[in-house]
Amino acid sequence: THFGYQTVAASEKAGKVAEVFHSVAAKYDIMNDLMSLGIHRLWKRFAIELSGVRPGQRVLDIAGGTGDLAKAFSREVGPSGHVILADINSSMLQVGRDRLLDQGVHGNMGFVQANAECLPFEPGSFDLITIAFGLRNVTDKNAALRSMYQSLKPGGRLLILEFSKPIFEPLAKIYDAYSFSLLPAMGKLVANDADSYRYLAESIRMHPDQDTLKDMMTDAGFERCDYHNLTGGIVALHRGFRF
Ligand code: SAM
Repeated sequence: THFGYQTVAASEKAGKVAEVFHSVAAKYDIMNDLMSLGIHRLWKRFAIELSGVRPGQRVLDIAGGTGDLAKAFSREVGPSGHVILADINSSMLQVGRDRLLDQGVHGNMGFVQANAECLPFEPGSFDLITIAFGLRNVTDKNAALRSMYQSLKPGGRLLILEFSKPIFEPLAKIYDAYSFSLLPAMGKLVANDADSYRYLAESIRMHPDQDTLKDMMTDAGFERCDYHNLTGGIVALHRGFRF
């Protein structure tokens, strides 16, 4: 049946995502810097600035991987705040946890293995939820948006940092060539794993564009949704509030 097909396809996607991130976990940080020429740091900096996070707040970074955002938020919320780094993948979470503890980031940090589609937190737990370069890997994005909405306090906000659709056609062409030839080649060279990076390029192409994602956020209940294009729309930062 159609329904049966969708179930198989969904579990295949989840399996593939798990396989990819178990295999790239150890080399994830260096690949991130290489693939984006270090620009992911600027995209994340922009997200941190737009987050409006304040001392004492509770923050969830879901699909947090190796913890770049969680580390910055831990500093921002201070000892009276709390940050949870959550990821569905035990290898990514392990690398992130070891890295943050090695860097002395603890005290106000927690680590939770969780699926964005069904977050295991009390409704209204967080002032801020972030998901950076994670939503495109989630099978049921609408369920994830609803679950994030539920987990926010009234007045809280969600920030989604994700690859999106370049706004100039020439940039889109260069970017396509980059992601489908150079990216897998770099993956092969550095991590001996071209397939995982080919999957990443495909997942970027399939991801909803800026306005589609904004509409999905509105459908999930978010208000005052907007987005900023970064690097010509290669990446977009979406924001929405729960009131
Ligand atoms: N946020 C980090 C960053 O910006 O560097 C990591 C991004 S990494 C490209 C994507 C992460 O999403 C992986 O660690 C993966 O395990 C996680 N992920 C994929 N599907 C997920 C899901 N359904 N729920 C939670 N995390 C998920």
